[in-house]
Amino acid sequence: MLKTHGCGELRAEHAGERVTLAGWVHRRRDHGGLLFLDLRDSTGIVQVVFRPQDSPQAAAIAEGVRSEFVVQVKGEVALRRQGTENADMPTGAIEVVAGEATILNASETPPFSIAEETNTGEVMRLRYRYLDLRRERMAKNLRLRHRVVKFIRDFMDERGFLEVETPTLNLATPEGARDYLVPSRVHPGAFYALPQSPQQWKQLLMVAGVDKYFQIARCYRDEDLRGDRQPEFTQLDVEMAFVEEEDILNLIEELYVQMSEAVAPHFALPSPFPRLTYAEAMERFGSDKPDMRYGLELHDFTSNVRDTEFQVFTRVIEDGGRIRGFVVPGGADIPRRGIDALTEVARDAGASGLVWAQFSGEGPLDGLTADDVRSPVQRFFTPDQLGALAAAAGGSRGDALLLAAGPDALTSKVLDVLRRKVAEDRNLADPDRLAFLFVTQFPMFEWDTDGERWSAVHHLFTAPYEEDLPLLATDPGAMRSHAYDIVCNGQEIASGSIRIHSRDTQMAVFRTLGIGLEEARLKFGHMLDAFTYGAPPHGGIAPGIDRTVALFAGERDIREVIAFPKTKSASDPMTGAPAAVAPQQLSDVHITLDEEARLALEEAAAGDPVGDEDDA
Ligand code: ASP
Repeated sequence: MLKTHGCGELRAEHAGERVTLAGWVHRRRDHGGLLFLDLRDSTGIVQVVFRPQDSPQAAAIAEGVRSEFVVQVKGEVALRRQGTENADMPTGAIEVVAGEATILNASETPPFSIAEETNTGEVMRLRYRYLDLRRERMAKNLRLRHRVVKFIRDFMDERGFLEVETPTLNLATPEGARDYLVPSRVHPGAFYALPQSPQQWKQLLMVAGVDKYFQIARCYRDEDLRGDRQPEFTQLDVEMAFVEEEDILNLIEELYVQMSEAVAPHFALPSPFPRLTYAEAMERFGSDKPDMRYGLELHDFTSNVRDTEFQVFTRVIEDGGRIRGFVVPGGADIPRRGIDALTEVARDAGASGLVWAQFSGEGPLDGLTADDVRSPVQRFFTPDQLGALAAAAGGSRGDALLLAAGPDALTSKVLDVLRRKVAEDRNLADPDRLAFLFVTQFPMFEWDTDGERWSAVHHLFTAPYEEDLPLLATDPGAMRSHAYDIVCNGQEIASGSIRIHSRDTQMAVFRTLGIGLEEARLKFGHMLDAFTYGAPPHGGIAPGIDRTVALFAGERDIREVIAFPKTKSASDPMTGAPAAVAPQQLSDVHITLDEEARLALEEAAAGDPVGDEDDA
């Protein structure tokens, strides 16, 4: 080894020891005749002091180094002089007095500071990711990710789960997202698909008699990368035979509670996790992934406004819609432009407008005069009528009331985005809390208005409630499924379900989804066959590792916990992927480019090959 200790390992008890260190120059401070280098390696940072009188050789080397040079230093650990200790540094009680120094490698000036968390653009960070990862926060995130994955492996192993690797070159099946395709050289015109998840493999493993499976599995989905998505991401993929919903939820809850204790104890996850059915979540929060760190619960005002003069409401009610909304505690202080911004958010979500009211003063909402209320609908409601609405939802003077009218699908969507916006504006979501919950009883099918057909809410192998099976023929939209999600702080962390294990039920579900006998045989023949050879009852779940680590790390974006992520346009500014390949490689796999592709490649060749301006 080129070193005897890690830079970050040295403590007061090492004083007097001769050590050899090797690492990067983190900071260099020249005090004229006295030079300090902060030396950094993966274990941390230590201060090294160079004095010509101690070692002219070492001092001369230190004179010539710059940030991020790689150096080796031999020297003696010494307690720092009283008053110069640094309590913020784990090594702050000591320094190393350099006796000999060697430059192991020089460094160009980095394009951004490693020591300082400067505001560096995403493309720049990804182009020099190997430098970005040297920064303390990123190095910490990598270590946390390692610990999360290690914890999971140990936990699953202790409970008798087997980690099984499944193929990444797969048959393309119509499962939800768009596939990443891999052309076959030996089968001209044929393609593999990268797995969107190992869903079918893990079910086949259940038929194979592996009754407790897991895998840290890479998944690929060719989706538009809005927000916090990556084209490839990692799941903890789990499947168990001979279990019911409860067994899987309990296992995963135990995993998360213990994992949090091990890797991020400051979150102290309360258990048991609350549970909401899908219907309850939609009714109370307008979302199947509610952020439970704050209230702002929805209320149904339909019966309160049915007999009023306000036709915007009464017409919606006649058409079968409802008037729903929530109280913003203290919301009387929202300024006019705040209300305008909320209205804009509601419009973007599809509402024709936002009905609101603000109540001044404090105390109960009675005896209101026109001066006590601000609202665009004051012509249609008396102050007391508006006050009674807010009071019905638990409001008082000093609060605001926000209302949306329409079919449930619309009001849920609008009120969900309003809840999130209000919570953000008013800092209602405690960043130091993780509010986990389970959402259960998802509907089996939803009507896909574009495709004019039913589609699976979870996926096409999810089991319906036994007692809802007759609805398959009459009212598929009303069927409940054994699908469940784990949700935390307004994000979906995991999805799973109990699966269909009967060939007949699977065929009936395929039929409802518009997958005929022939397509079913072609695309899912292996699954249907397997179901005829004694498939056990089974179910599973798949928590997202990236998102889990991001939550524990307190990061908003999963890219902060992935070593080498892609940009929002699914490219890698460092390597330049994706990129054109040699004509021979294309013809090997029997592919000819169309006009659009040729033009795009020419354009890319003429300009910046990385081309990710939108992410800069
Ligand atoms: N394969 C599913 C998914 O990726 C998870 C599951 O049902 O286990 O969402």
